[in-house]
This record gives sequence, structure tokens and C-alpha cells, in this order.
Amino acid sequence: MTSPIAYLSNADRLDRLFIDGEWTLPEPLTRTAVVDPSTEESVAEIALGSSADVDTAVAAARRAFAGWAATSAESRATLLDRVHALILERAEWFAQAISLEMGAAIGYARSAQVPLAAEHIRVARDNLATYPFLSHRGTTAILREPIGVCGLITPWNWPLYQITAKVGAALAAGCTIVLKPSELSPLSALLFAEVVQDAGIPPGVFNLLNGDGPGVGAALSAHPDVDMISLTGSTRAGVLVSQAAAPTVKRVALELGGKSPNVILPDTDLSRAIAPGVAAAFRNLGQSCSAPTRMIVPSQHLQEVERLACAAVAEMVVGDPRSEQSTHGPVANRAQFERVREMIAVGIAEGARLVCGGTGRPQGLDRGFYVRPTVFSEVDSQMRIAQEEIFGPVLCVIPYDTIDEAVAIANDTIYGLGAHVQGGDLETARSVAAQIRSGQVHINYPAWDPNAPFGGYKRSGNGREYGIEGMEEYLETKAVIGFQSA
Ligand code: NAD
Repeated sequence: MTSPIAYLSNADRLDRLFIDGEWTLPEPLTRTAVVDPSTEESVAEIALGSSADVDTAVAAARRAFAGWAATSAESRATLLDRVHALILERAEWFAQAISLEMGAAIGYARSAQVPLAAEHIRVARDNLATYPFLSHRGTTAILREPIGVCGLITPWNWPLYQITAKVGAALAAGCTIVLKPSELSPLSALLFAEVVQDAGIPPGVFNLLNGDGPGVGAALSAHPDVDMISLTGSTRAGVLVSQAAAPTVKRVALELGGKSPNVILPDTDLSRAIAPGVAAAFRNLGQSCSAPTRMIVPSQHLQEVERLACAAVAEMVVGDPRSEQSTHGPVANRAQFERVREMIAVGIAEGARLVCGGTGRPQGLDRGFYVRPTVFSEVDSQMRIAQEEIFGPVLCVIPYDTIDEAVAIANDTIYGLGAHVQGGDLETARSVAAQIRSGQVHINYPAWDPNAPFGGYKRSGNGREYGIEGMEEYLETKAVIGFQSA
């Protein structure tokens, strides 16, 4: 099988944007390097769009809107079905591209990053079969109509998954799209644009604009002919996008950062709860917005938790992401690499107790953005390592004495995205879940549910993705009063 880079290069895609159904050269042509985080070397150069390209792409999406909005739910479902099938058919390419651009271990890219991404398209398709775009209340008809042209801005951590969560829902709703993926993970986005094209989505309905945040992302957010912006990214970018969007009063949906708690209740079977808690925190090397990186544990069990957590870390195989043996690769980019090492040093300086890991590189990995999975114990909730999103494999174990105190610690950050509760008694676990201020709470590590709405309380954002609520983000509500005679 050819590599995704060789394929994209031979097909002349790396230099191009996908606008109005055509692979076009940006105007002017500027490029940026795609860096393999396992070698720190450039593996390709991709074209970056400009604000002129934003205008061209938005105009194409505007022209396509009326036609696409008027298609039947059945025909949109048929096209989404093709997108879904093509992602699965090209799964290996997607996995290779994701592993290369952000360092995911190839096994993880194959088993999680790609199939879960495909699920968002399947769910969007399935929801179209039953969604009531028209309903009645007395003599009033209530129509749910597509909001219009949507600017979608995505991050690098789950590159394809973040794209499909937005694109599937927006296409299902009948919206047209200008997608700006992270400039750090553009390869899977280029492959995705080909899927959309090959699936037969009409020209202009989906446009791909690789580009940077301050240039292309900001121009898209401010654009007067964009009806909605949906961003997944940092809280910092969320604030900037909201400010840029405010003068045109467009809808803004934000999926931002997190510092999710994992409350271990006193009656929890630790032998079953701690290893999966570490695995959840360090999944994708901790580069997930909802990673439960604050483990809140009963003081009397602290030592046992530390022992089990370090045993779980010892099972992780950090190494070459292209090796089938590696469970985890490097951190995705240099900025994150420096940030993670800095925050481990901050934790040590703040007086948290380092129980495993540390600032150095893993043994034998002298090149590439590799870090040591790290567990701190006796962390105080006020420490920076407990308050700030690190976005890497750093777990804070925070002791508590009463359940009320555990809930207070769980809620003690500016974020409210994900949360976990572990416990033997389901009633107590439910009561704790009810008191946690976050968009999702998972009790006793349930299976991933692509229909469960996902999004943030507090500074983790606003709006919801996934499932029915994810599609409703992209709909307007119109009431036609007097639709029926009284
Ligand atoms: P980032 O905010 O740097 O970038 C995200 C996207 O926003 C990129 O496409 C970037 O180019 C763009 N961007 C940056 N500045 C912009 C601006 N001024 N205007 C418009 N667009 C701009 O984030 P990242 O480093 O790519 O991703 C990590 C962050 O994303 C973390 O904070 C993480 O928690 C968050 N995240 C949240 C979710 C969620 O669903 N809540 C999921 C994944 C990641």
C-alpha cells in the first residue's frame, strides 16, 4: 500500500484547497511544514489558505446552500451513508495519516481514532430517518431549518473525529460548510475531502480550507456571510472566535478545554477502578479535552491508589507510533511537548509528590516529542497542575475525606466538560453525578455512546455535539403561526 503522503503528493493534493468541488491553488500560495512528532522532521508541506480564499469558499458555500437545504432527508442520508462507507474503506490510510501528523500509536489510530470518527457520520445518517423537521403545536407549525453556511474549525488531537462530529451533523441538518482543520494535522482532512468528493456530495456543499488560526480561522469567524461558527479548540481560541463573530451576531458553538475529575467513592473496588482510570486519563496520551486527569480519591486509600496507578503506567509502552507494540506515541507537537514538560516541573516545584514519571525523556527515546507518563499524588486542588489543562499524560491524584469534599473538588475548576464517578452503590454514584457541573458524567466506565450529547458547562464551552443535539446545533427554529386554520 502506498503511504498517504505519497498518495496525496502524487494526486497533487498537498498544495490545494478543496473549494466548490475543485482542488484549487490558494491565492497567494504559502506553505507550512507537516512535522512527524516521532522524528521532529518535516514529512510534507501543505498549502495554507488566505482571507481571499475564505471569501471564495464562503461564496461557494452560499451558492450551494439553497439547493442543499432543499434536498430530502433521505437523499442526504444516502450521501452520508457513502461517506461512512468510504471512511471505513480507506480506514488504513486515515490511520496512517493520523499517526504521522499527530503521533497516535498506529494500533490506537486503527482501533479508536478512525472507527469512532466514522461513527459520527453513521449516527448523523441514522438520525435523519426519524428527526421531526416539521411538527405542530395547535395551529402553529414548527419547522427546524438549516442555519446556513457554517464555518467549522477543528483541533489536531482527534483530527478526523473532530471533523466528522461537526461535518456529519451539519450536512445532516442541510447546512453548507467551510472546514478549517488544524494546520498541525492537515493530512487526514485532505483525505476526508476526497471522501466527500467521491461520495458525490454536490460542489460547494463542503469546502476545505487548510490554514492557520489567526489568519484563516479569524477571517472565517468574522465573515459576514457565515451564519454559524463551530470551534473545537482551546478556551483561548474560543474567546477570540466569539469576539470576532460578535459584530455579525452569528451563532457560535464552542467545544473547549477541560480538566475532568474522576471521583473514586469509598466503596469502589480499587482493583477494578484505578487501572481503567489511568487508561482513560492517558488515552491518546492525555490529549483529549475530556481526559479525566484529576483522580479524586478517599484519603484512607491513597497509598493503594498510588500503587495501582503506577502499576498501570508501567504497562504503557511509549515508543515509535508506527510500531504495533507501542500503546502510546509522542506528544503531538513541539509546543505541547514543551508545555507538558514545563507543567511536570511546575508540579514538582509546587510540592506535589511525584510517584512515577518526571520531566526527563523515556529511556532510549532521545529524538521525537516523547514524554514520560507521570502521576502526582497528594495534589492540592489549588495547585496549577490541578487547575490548568495540561493536555498530556499527567495525572493528579487528589485526596478527600468526605463525599461533599470530593464533589467540591470535582467542581473546583473553570471547566465542566467530562467527569467520571466510580462506586459500588449506584444510588450514591448517581447522586454525586447529579452534583457535578459538567456536560457529561460517566458512571463506572460505560462504553462510549456516540448518541450521548457532548459539550461543556462553564468555560468548557457552549452548545452540544453528537447525536440528535449535535444536529440541532445546526438548525434554526421557525414557527408558522396560523399554519392550520383554528
Ligand atoms: P487551538 O485552540 O490552538 O486550535 C484549535 C483550532 O482553532 C485550530 O484549527 C486553530 O487553527 C484554530 N484557531 C486558533 N486560533 C484561532 C483564532 N484566533 N481564530 C480562529 N481559529 C483559531 O487548540 P489545539 O491546540 O488545536 O487543541 C487543543 C485544545 O482543544 C485543548 O484546549 C483541548 O481541550 C481543546 N479540545 C476541546 C475539545 C472539546 O470537544 N471540548 C476536543 C478536543 C480538543
